[in-house]
Amino acid sequence: MAFQFTLHVIFMDAQQREYGYMLAGLGTSIAEIFYSESGGAIVLQPQVVSTPVFQQASPAVSPGLLGEVAERHVLNTGEFAQHLGLIIAPRWFKDVDPATSVQWLGVMFDTDTMIADIHFGSGDRRRPRECCAIFTESLNSVAQATGQDLSRLVARTAVHEIGHLFNLKHSIAAQSFMTQTRHITNKVRAFSRFEDHDRLALQMIGQPGFEHVRPGSSEFK
Ligand SMILES: [Zn+2]
Repeated sequence: MAFQFTLHVIFMDAQQREYGYMLAGLGTSIAEIFYSESGGAIVLQPQVVSTPVFQQASPAVSPGLLGEVAERHVLNTGEFAQHLGLIIAPRWFKDVDPATSVQWLGVMFDTDTMIADIHFGSGDRRRPRECCAIFTESLNSVAQATGQDLSRLVARTAVHEIGHLFNLKHSIAAQSFMTQTRHITNKVRAFSRFEDHDRLALQMIGQPGFEHVRPGSSEFK
């Protein structure tokens, strides 16, 4: 059984479109990775939109602003989330992750768990694990500092955050998409795949015992 999702790739402002040449194929490559890793169980249909209305003086975005963007573009009405959001933003409002001392490259936002003060919609319009964001300015500076290919780092970060939408947890395996940036020792292999238990979860999405994999079904845990 295949589960179809619309993946809304949302550019937050005109500045982000400078990355357009690089990000043009991002949604498609993400969709291909999830399709193959899930054995065809997860079909992501990318839809690229931009929100010039959200141009602002500071490139740093707050949880509230991401919530507004999500509410405008990602609306789920059923029991589960069939619309997923990947917001392309300049920079997170916190410069550095205190736990890791590295810049925030991306976040997944939940109803309560991951970022307590982010809320989008109200009542039954809110769904856990329906949106995430990646930050181009931070990705650019980390890519320059570490000699990584920018488009590869962007794609990997997007796959990592979308992995969280499917309730995948962090890993420390060198080759896993779910390993945090600070643990990546082999930059080439780090891109390559999900670990077996993550791949199994993606393949079994929605099956008995794997209901929690579906975005919107429960909070991240
Ligand atoms: Zn993560």
